[in-house]
Amino acid sequence: MNLNNSQNTFENWKKIPFAERQNLMQNLAEILLKNKEKFAEIITKEMNKPISQSISEIEKCAGMAEYYSKVENVLDINKIKSEFAYSEIHHEPMGIILGVMPWNYPFWQVLRFAVPAILAGNVVIMKHASICLKSGDALQELFEEAGFPKHTFTHIKVSHDEIEKILANPLVQGVSLTGSEKAGSAVAAAAGKNIKKSLLELGGNDAFIVLNDADLDQAAKSAALGRLQNCGQTCVASKRFIIQSSIYDEFLEKFVTEYKTYIVADPLDKDTKIAGMAREDLADDLEKQYQKAVENSAEIILPLERIDKISFQPGLIKMNLGNPVLDEELFGPLGMVLEAKTDEELLEIANNTKFGLANSVWSKDKKRLEFFINNLQSGTVSINQITKSDARFPFGGTKNSGYGIELSPNALKEFTNVKIVLGK
Ligand code: NDP
Repeated sequence: MNLNNSQNTFENWKKIPFAERQNLMQNLAEILLKNKEKFAEIITKEMNKPISQSISEIEKCAGMAEYYSKVENVLDINKIKSEFAYSEIHHEPMGIILGVMPWNYPFWQVLRFAVPAILAGNVVIMKHASICLKSGDALQELFEEAGFPKHTFTHIKVSHDEIEKILANPLVQGVSLTGSEKAGSAVAAAAGKNIKKSLLELGGNDAFIVLNDADLDQAAKSAALGRLQNCGQTCVASKRFIIQSSIYDEFLEKFVTEYKTYIVADPLDKDTKIAGMAREDLADDLEKQYQKAVENSAEIILPLERIDKISFQPGLIKMNLGNPVLDEELFGPLGMVLEAKTDEELLEIANNTKFGLANSVWSKDKKRLEFFINNLQSGTVSINQITKSDARFPFGGTKNSGYGIELSPNALKEFTNVKIVLGK
């Protein structure tokens, strides 16, 4: 692949002052909002997200671009007081950064990576999921319409094999991937082989922990939303619902009532809360995981009922400890419920996973919450709410959920080289 155009753009782009780059981010935010219905329709037609949720995704992208258009420039030269005349820390953009992006939030995942990387002075080439090529084209047009120089953001349509060759190209300086552990491990290995930086945002198997003093009505409503928005295909979705025994029956009844309000319907209808999954093979995989869980003694609370090739009436299963599916990510409309007596047992179950992205805890007691805040192994701990990434705060995983920081001012530094200037 000829990357000279991207490299030539980089040579000029890195010299553009930060404030001027920010003005273009403001344009990007405005174009997103102005065209939110059009962009949302592309998303929904490509991966079946209910249209109201696709519109929210575009609004969230616009809010994030707006945030970065005003963010503090943490890349400014930092002069440190010392005995030296020259005593400075510089952050310099790296060059061409590759993005390998998934289909579940076709605009958000791409922009979450690309906006801070580009604002820092890099240029981006982006391979989108193979079902999201129209989203990829629309994103490239978006950057061009906002006034970014041509080749600041380029949508590249390449196969998996070509990704390895791209990472071997000396002009490419790093890669950011959002997706499965398998894809993350393969792409990060190729980056490592070529001594290139990688950032991985992978899956999760997050806990939604309900203590016996929680507001159960609110918790039940949020639990259903946390599991079923975007048809369960969200990395930070609540996947394991760990409930304190003394309120188990009461919570479960409320949870099931909320869950049943999610009825599969036309994704283009604005009232639809849940529609089909993104691809038939993903639905097949989920059905196999459901069958495996049941074969291993999971108890069916609500059956996962296949309606057509891609759609299910959502399912809920009560898991027994030791069920092998407990440590798998369920990326679809199927929730796992567990019960435990003490706070210590709830915590132990929550942490007993290879993932660590974004757990959620429900309680009114500050002391008990503190115990979970200090001991949960995840990049985010959400208190009395489901996890929603927020442009102002760093976002990232622990354990097999990945490494590196997205969002917040911190993300501006991810694809920069630190240069120290020191002397007399
Ligand atoms: P993948 O991880 O396979 O896809 C994500 C992106 O990586 C796509 O652009 C894909 O391209 C690309 N990709 C995959 N393998 C390679 C490779 N070896 N080399 C280069 N690029 C690669 O996700 P799937 O679509 O297969 O979904 C499977 C599972 O991944 C889900 O069930 C879920 O568990 C997890 N996932 C997690 C996401 C998250 O937000 N953390 C997002 C999406 C999926 P292509 O589309 O062409 O295969």
